[in-house]
Amino acid sequence: MLPAFYVAEDKLVFKDDNLYNEKYDCKVLTERSFIMQNILTKATVEGVRIYALCTTKLVNELAGRHKCSHLASAALGRAMNGALLLAATMKDNERITLRLKGDGPIGEVVADAEGNCVRGYVENNDVFLPLKDGKLDIGGAIGNGNIIVTRYLQNAEPFTGYCELQDGEIASDLTKYLYESEQTPASVALGVLVDKEGSVIASGGYFVQAMPGCDDEILAQLEENINMMPYVSQLLEIGYDPEKIIRIIARGLEVDIKESVPVHFKCRCSRERILDALASLNSDALHELEQDEVTEVHCQFCNSTYTFTQEEITALEKGKQ
Ligand SMILES: [Zn+2]
Repeated sequence: MLPAFYVAEDKLVFKDDNLYNEKYDCKVLTERSFIMQNILTKATVEGVRIYALCTTKLVNELAGRHKCSHLASAALGRAMNGALLLAATMKDNERITLRLKGDGPIGEVVADAEGNCVRGYVENNDVFLPLKDGKLDIGGAIGNGNIIVTRYLQNAEPFTGYCELQDGEIASDLTKYLYESEQTPASVALGVLVDKEGSVIASGGYFVQAMPGCDDEILAQLEENINMMPYVSQLLEIGYDPEKIIRIIARGLEVDIKESVPVHFKCRCSRERILDALASLNSDALHELEQDEVTEVHCQFCNSTYTFTQEEITALEKGKQ
């Protein structure tokens, strides 16, 4: 079993008991977790890049907007956390989209991040499955299939790669994808805790990547630390912020905190963009839309609906001739 530990007066205390039995000892920390900001912290640790992230508020809000079930909230949160962590390794104005496409009841899970902004959706937001070993069965909800990753790069064509899902739990799928498809050995952890009422009470994750030439001993130490850690969602729940999580991952090593940045939900949709997309349809498709008095276009990412009049569609169709 994982060793459970918590902070008492800024000192790490190791406990043999299960974390759940002890966490309410530190009431201040438990309360603090509810006011924690959506934040991503970047650090380097002796040639290793470590990023950690808290998105509790953000995922709770977006899960509410999409009317997600417990299971859908957890899957959506994990995917969005993964997208944000990978986007943080990319340049300004570059974007990444993760798609988990399996044969399970949740359908497709999609997350898209650019810089510190993220959005996402799940195809079937009221998916329900019985708990598996006391946990939300995200792997069962996604099923067997592929993870597909597209990177929209600066001054280059978009790059899409994919690999078979490892177990549908998202973090392991992403780790496998990075290794097999992009030849990047990395360690990814993603966690979301949902309470009985369906509120997201902890969400976040971390990403660890060795840079070229990094010392094997450092990697061994990091691996040992990671194996000793509780789940990232448990740490967030008791009030650890991303910087503290990085310091636990890097216990015994020199940590260089680079920056902490706020992260946000932001959809890329707009009336203009959707009008552009409609304009790209062929004449037959536009002619069919023209039969309706009003054309409604729904954005899956933010659950917004845009309406267009018959005249607007006619104008688009005329533009084709
Ligand atoms: Zn949208």
